[in-house]
Amino acid sequence: MSAYSRLEKRLQELDHSAKKSLGQNFLISDIVIEKILAAAATFECQKIVEIGPGCGALTDLLIDKYTDIKLIELDRDLFNFWKSQGMDIINQDALQMDWRPYADRLLVSNLPYQISSSLVIERSLDAQPLVGMVLMFQKEVAQRIRATHQTEHYGMLSIIAQEFWDIQTVCDAGPRDFKPPPKVASRVLLFKSRKTNIADPKAYLSFVKAAFQQRRRILKTNLQGLDAKYDLNRLIDWLKQNRKTEKVRAEELSVIEINSLYHFLKT
Ligand code: SAM
Repeated sequence: MSAYSRLEKRLQELDHSAKKSLGQNFLISDIVIEKILAAAATFECQKIVEIGPGCGALTDLLIDKYTDIKLIELDRDLFNFWKSQGMDIINQDALQMDWRPYADRLLVSNLPYQISSSLVIERSLDAQPLVGMVLMFQKEVAQRIRATHQTEHYGMLSIIAQEFWDIQTVCDAGPRDFKPPPKVASRVLLFKSRKTNIADPKAYLSFVKAAFQQRRRILKTNLQGLDAKYDLNRLIDWLKQNRKTEKVRAEELSVIEINSLYHFLKT
């Protein structure tokens, strides 16, 4: 049965209407669903966690391939449905819960757009990271995640995501691949957890946030608010060693350079 027919049938069975407040744009493209599953299959991970099973666009097919699946669904009605099907599901906000029990899993989700940037930041900071993630984003957020320095979309989200994950683009999806159609284009990204020399991800996030505090301001000024854990007198040395002028902005530094600067300034 096509994804579209599965959705129509389930919406009728459950007497459910999509809730805009919960970002319920249900996937109806068999092609996009297949690409998400194929991306998930590139991981040798048999344990899945899915945020927002919704009406089952992905879940119905994940069940055929994986035996160990955990679901997180904020919508009480949809939670009750999956519970009644005997699924292992919790009724929680994916941004508010304890992710430690999921560390050895692969996260797969057609994310509600409103939580996607925070979710990527939060999962990047986990002491025990997920094995990987295959996630649908609003295209513009996906562009920010993958942006390189000196480009318009580059910023805090790019640096944090690229520091902690190797990221690939899986596919694009248009409004017509969803019901109801969102106003924006979408893109699926694959994240593989990568080794990093950042021992304290939260401190790193604060550092990157400070560097980008005011995008158009020079790095030196932005960093002035940092606490005594950083020796700002060393900034000039680092800039010289790396052939940067004192007027350099954070957006001109690559992910590797920001990492190098962080370790150089840390006392
Ligand atoms: N996976 C389904 C699909 O692809 O058609 C539904 C995806 S829909 C874009 C997002 C799903 O996430 C909805 O089922 C929604 O109820 C759920 N959701 C929204 N906000 C959530 C949150 N903060 N935590 C967990 N689930 C959430």
